[in-house]
Amino acid sequence: MSIKKEYDAIIIGGGHMGLTLGAYLQRAGMQTAIFERRHEEGSAIFTSECTAPGFLHNLHAQYMEFMDWMPIYFDFNLEQLGARCIYPHAQSGIAFSDGRPPIIMYSREHPENLDKTYKSIAEYSKHDAETFVDLMRKMLEMENIYAAGIYSPAVQPTPETPNPEVQAMEVMAEYLGLPKFINGMAPPDVYDYLFETDELKTLLNRMSVEWCQPLEREGIGFGSIGIFGIYFNWRLMVGGTHSLAHAMVMAGVNEGMDFYESSEVVKILLDGKKAVGVRLLDGTEIKARKLVVSNADMKGTMLRMVGEENLSPLWVKRVKDFQIGPSAVLASTALALHEAPDYKSAKWNPDINKTFYTVVGFDTTKDIIEYCMDAVYGRIPRIPGAGTWVNSLWDPTYAPTGKHSLTGWFFFPKASELTREEWEEVRTTHNDKFIRHFEKWAPNMTWDNVIDHYFYTPQDQEDEMRLMEGDFFNGAVKLHQRGYNRPFPEANQYRTEIECLYLCGPHMHPGGGASGAVGYNCFKIIAEDFGLDKFWEKLNRGY
Ligand SMILES: Cc1cc2nc3c(=O)[nH]c(=O)nc-3n(C[C@H](O)[C@H](O)[C@H](O)COP(=O)(O)OP(=O)(O)OC[C@H]3O[C@@H](n4cnc5c(N)ncnc54)[C@H](O)[C@@H]3O)c2cc1C
Repeated sequence: MSIKKEYDAIIIGGGHMGLTLGAYLQRAGMQTAIFERRHEEGSAIFTSECTAPGFLHNLHAQYMEFMDWMPIYFDFNLEQLGARCIYPHAQSGIAFSDGRPPIIMYSREHPENLDKTYKSIAEYSKHDAETFVDLMRKMLEMENIYAAGIYSPAVQPTPETPNPEVQAMEVMAEYLGLPKFINGMAPPDVYDYLFETDELKTLLNRMSVEWCQPLEREGIGFGSIGIFGIYFNWRLMVGGTHSLAHAMVMAGVNEGMDFYESSEVVKILLDGKKAVGVRLLDGTEIKARKLVVSNADMKGTMLRMVGEENLSPLWVKRVKDFQIGPSAVLASTALALHEAPDYKSAKWNPDINKTFYTVVGFDTTKDIIEYCMDAVYGRIPRIPGAGTWVNSLWDPTYAPTGKHSLTGWFFFPKASELTREEWEEVRTTHNDKFIRHFEKWAPNMTWDNVIDHYFYTPQDQEDEMRLMEGDFFNGAVKLHQRGYNRPFPEANQYRTEIECLYLCGPHMHPGGGASGAVGYNCFKIIAEDFGLDKFWEKLNRGY
């Protein structure tokens, strides 16, 4: 397809936030084009056949936790466009090397599943089971409020509510029956305060880091409970997470949007202080009649594509100061297997052998904390444990008949902590450490069970996806970089100081995750600025 010379709206980057925005803009009547530098859409929402033919691995996004709320999923009927989900019954769990009972959390699909979760935790402590299930029930009652917070631009401070996010958290804590001082704590202290079972705390601490509540950080206590709101609501995309990204492209294209792959934008064209188009790597220039939006990383967008010389000193400083990593940096492993892992802990509850997400390689909270601190301080974690997924247990399209595909996540140092040679060394050695460790939890997980394997480093994430440093939110979620401070106060409404240039990546509120939220919220702001139909105000979903 030859590239048209002008559009109303140009989006740089076809990650799923850019795709979400594109579909809404086109439907609102703006002739829109997306330019993506990779050969395919979706960025981290992709699937790879990286081990052996027929074995599919979601090297990035695995679990889809926003499916009940994600506006684009319903507004554009993504199921009709090929995005289908499975809702695994046993959602997340932890197995132990000495074969102790596993802890398993079950899906929120049926109320009786909370009883199963209760029973699993009660193997260790009735007090913890009651506390956990009570918190989960209350979080479920609040889920619409939670969803509205995600799918709305950040609330702005006022003299009455100078710190809206913290104040909202305090209201939540009151509802949950928790003291306000919890917010001052770091996640491990919160779990210590609430629970007595180390097995439960080990699982929760691991999941906390995955949801950007780093263990070392004080002042995010409510966050480490708030994330219970997205737990156990995880779906698996049939045929790979790629199907979600593909359906999102189709949603926009069906409305008349154009999508160009292998089209890297190198420059945002300015007329004075106004964005008026883009230049591609091959020199092609495309005019934007109304606006340009960047789904690409913020430093690249502002410092290179716009150019430092076109920004005010304040913006240059703010953009340069924006912190990326070190806590949400993942490496992935992919294994093509003859058999799925058979855990020692399965003798107590066989569901651990068919749990969607299984934490393996850690027996205590101390293990998890040591492991995470290694990564945060730039060391390859000494404990080669991981969070693992065997998607072929649920969806046979993930592996050839009778075989299994496993994917796992390791927390690792950010990309710049190691040289490229050191990352290559990690690539060739870490799977071996992992398998030798894994065997202590699941005796059939020896090299004899492995058909082929692959290792994906944080440096790969930066090189391929432009997730800088391998940070899966393209920017740390710290107190001074969340809510109305994300990415920084002057940019928290998706607008920039360059007229008609907007930002729409996971570095914006409410952050990353396969939610489509940044794209949806950015659309709301653009609708405000350009007088587009505010269709969401006529809906009763509340956002
Ligand atoms: C290992 C890993 C596991 C994850 N697991 C989960 C999970 O299980 N569940 C979940 O909800 N989330 C998960 N995430 C997070 C989630 O996938 C990301 O936060 C989200 O996909 C980011 O949103 P995005 O796709 O819009 O942004 P980005 O990934 O930042 O996409 C930006 C796009 O812009 C393109 N681009 C950059 N520069 C240019 C340029 N100059 N010209 C043109 N295009 C450009 C990039 O190629 C990319 O496609 C995971 C992420 C990682 C890395």
